[in-house]
Amino acid sequence: MAKYDYDLFTIGAGSGGVRASRYAAGLGARVAVAEERYLGGTCVNVGCIPKKLFSYAAHYGEDFEHAAGYGWRAASPSFDWPTLIANKDREITRLNGVYEKLLSGAGVELMRGRATLVDAHAVEIEGRRISARYILVATGGWPVAPPIPGAEFAISSNEAFHLPELPRRALVVGGGYIAVEFASIFNGLGVDTTLVYRGERLLKEFDSDLGSFLAGEMINKGMKIRFRSNIERITRDTHSGALCATFADASELTAECVMYATGRAPNTRGLGLENAGVDLTENGAVVVDETFQSSAPSIYAVGDVIDRLLLTPVALAEGMVVADHLFGSGARSMAYEGIPTAIFSNPNIGTVGLSEATARERGGAIDVYRSTFVPLRHQLTGSGEKVLMKLVVDKETDRVLGVHMVGADAGEIIQGFAVALKCGATKREFDATIGIHPTMAEEFVTMRETAK
Ligand code: NDP
Repeated sequence: MAKYDYDLFTIGAGSGGVRASRYAAGLGARVAVAEERYLGGTCVNVGCIPKKLFSYAAHYGEDFEHAAGYGWRAASPSFDWPTLIANKDREITRLNGVYEKLLSGAGVELMRGRATLVDAHAVEIEGRRISARYILVATGGWPVAPPIPGAEFAISSNEAFHLPELPRRALVVGGGYIAVEFASIFNGLGVDTTLVYRGERLLKEFDSDLGSFLAGEMINKGMKIRFRSNIERITRDTHSGALCATFADASELTAECVMYATGRAPNTRGLGLENAGVDLTENGAVVVDETFQSSAPSIYAVGDVIDRLLLTPVALAEGMVVADHLFGSGARSMAYEGIPTAIFSNPNIGTVGLSEATARERGGAIDVYRSTFVPLRHQLTGSGEKVLMKLVVDKETDRVLGVHMVGADAGEIIQGFAVALKCGATKREFDATIGIHPTMAEEFVTMRETAK
């Protein structure tokens, strides 16, 4: 008889947990995965997927307007929020089913309920104790917001996906991924939107041109941005239900919705990790090594719960490394350099590699190529929407270190350039590549002038 009930017990059926479980089962391991909430985790249910659907919905608003420049005349379009929510929910239910089938098809046993650790080789779920040779913690993260008076009146992105009605006015707090994405969504859907950011430049983790250029484009699209602003308290008018946000300078803004997008924290509380001797960071993230092993040798962790790069494809890759390490050849490893990412603001951002500032900090001379222009499409729409493209190049080796873009479909475009960067492409090779005409992306292979 086997010493343990399972070879691998995964807590959390999100992107990382499901991928690791399926891959491990494919390598012959006996695997079970526990999920207390929804299959597919944040990405499928309250993240990437519904956000992208909302983002598509928001773009239509201006697409109708832009079409006029191309000769289209239509009665003024109206938007129905309940239709979007119902159609989005139907798609998510379909994806939940796809995840369930993927697990059962791979021979992974799915257990519904909250699993907690009893010790380094045992979990308890729904009153049942189960033993496993290895336990994988893939419990993801959860939105966090500062505890100001009236914080209970504000929502996070979790609730934004299920609002019973579209607010007339919205305040979105934060200057990161979720804040700029949701501010763009609300604005595109016709909500009077104000982005409230404590800093001076949006998306400060990225190349500095991206955040400043995006802010200009967002303002052109009718959004308001309050930089260097902090909400000190929120009150609700009992009569109208409207929320009043009071700022540090005593000014006030009223809105039907205040949404905080001020970061996410790892989901480790109450999991019993202390029973197994698992070390956590100050932020509650599981500390792991390069094989994703925690301080307890039988316990591993991947995805948002380790708080490295909170991106679905990263969690998937980490899950594959763990499964391969435990049950396969162990040849896989995780490289965090050159991971491309997109921000589905309006306009989109796509970026891979080093920002100009990081490249300069590393020492060594660099060349910077930068181009802004109104793309062909908008010559007729009259929207004035501009595109930014930027290359950061190592002067000595000629290697392209960073490719950055603000503009429509930037994510789609940067994905291809990410391959070029992985291959170590040089600026000379970019230049030797024939452009596809007329596209925005051809600009990346025809950038000749070095920016001052
Ligand atoms: P981010 O870390 O991207 O941004 C958090 C923002 O909130 C920052 O601008 C930060 O300000 C601000 N902030 C933090 N604390 C406070 C505070 N107490 N008061 C006021 N402002 C505050 O987090 P998000 O919540 O936007 O997203 C979480 C993660 O999810 C992202 O890092 C990303 O990895 C992932 N994600 C990825 C997406 C994609 O791939 N397209 C989409 C959405 C999320 P400051 O800049 O000053 O620190």
